[in-house]
Amino acid sequence: MINPADLVLPTVAALHPYEPGKPIEELQRELGIGEPIKLASNENPLGPSPKAMAAVAASLHDMNRYPDGSNWAVRQKIAARHEVGADHIFMAGGSVEVLNLLAFLFLRPGLNAVFSEHSFAIYGLAVAAAGGEGRVVPMRPGWCHDLDAISAQIDANTRIVFLDNPGNPTGTIYRQAEWDTFIRHVPEHVVIVADEAYFEFVRDKDYPDSLKDHDGQRMIVTMRTFSKIFGLAGLRVGYAVARPELVQLLDKVRQPFNVTSLGQVAVIAGMDDEEHVRRTLAVNAEGMAYLEREFARLRIEYVPSHANFILTGVGDGRAVFDKLLRLGVIVRPMGGYGFPRHVRISVGLPEENRRLIAALEETLLHS
Ligand code: PMP
Repeated sequence: MINPADLVLPTVAALHPYEPGKPIEELQRELGIGEPIKLASNENPLGPSPKAMAAVAASLHDMNRYPDGSNWAVRQKIAARHEVGADHIFMAGGSVEVLNLLAFLFLRPGLNAVFSEHSFAIYGLAVAAAGGEGRVVPMRPGWCHDLDAISAQIDANTRIVFLDNPGNPTGTIYRQAEWDTFIRHVPEHVVIVADEAYFEFVRDKDYPDSLKDHDGQRMIVTMRTFSKIFGLAGLRVGYAVARPELVQLLDKVRQPFNVTSLGQVAVIAGMDDEEHVRRTLAVNAEGMAYLEREFARLRIEYVPSHANFILTGVGDGRAVFDKLLRLGVIVRPMGGYGFPRHVRISVGLPEENRRLIAALEETLLHS
């Protein structure tokens, strides 16, 4: 009997699928836990913008229709916000789709992509799925991307550099001066992917906004998402800003209706909800400060984060993850990201953060 795995690229056959955060329903099903909390996927704990919810509710009766395949209205709106032409905007079913399409377009056996050892897990998967070589670069102390070392790995066969800023799962950032030097040195044939999924959370004055460096010549792809601060992860909407020639290539290989109608409606209605963004930032800042204080009290080490999650050293990450599950708290074990001693904890609502700390205290100190 033929093994279908023998018929695909060896890099694909060797892949392990992406392991997402454990869904709340799964924990309820498996362990019969009453009211679990999920602090595992860097979602918005406040929920979506009320304006987005109202707009989605009002458009449910249109679900029988295909969405606008050109994403026209939503592209206009995002283009206006960034002061670029709508032909610079590529809409996607979550920003993960952009990563996969870029790898599909630009990589194949013999070509490579460069990224940090501890960065968003999808980079490695997308590169391998396309048959490319993933060049993984160690971080510099403090768990920051080493942009000089990344530059040094680029050669004639490099087509993409993936940079998550802030990084997932570290929550660290690279700053303006490093970024300026980096983009000056990257050769013209390399697509620079600035994955800014947590952009809106960052308060550091030297945090670079890669949109400012789109000069019509370099191949910079800035990626943003509605899954994080906008609270629409379940609807799957993200986007890229890039040169129109790049957007046109992405359009050739995407699905014709890659963003759902409800996703488009939610973004149009929710994107300008400044009040919701402000509340989200306040909840995050307060929650982060609380977690840092409690970690210090419990002598738990952590990596200071610029985003809405925090990489936390707990000893045996998988064992602590399992124990927390039994206490109804879902965090994310980080072994797959090269941090077997850590879990990644998303900042939740105040009462969720308190439950997490109580569960962690019970797990670490009283077991
Ligand atoms: N980039 C980074 C760094 C992320 O952490 C995530 C989500 N975990 C994404 C991209 C993808 O987000 P989405 O596909 O939901 O837009």
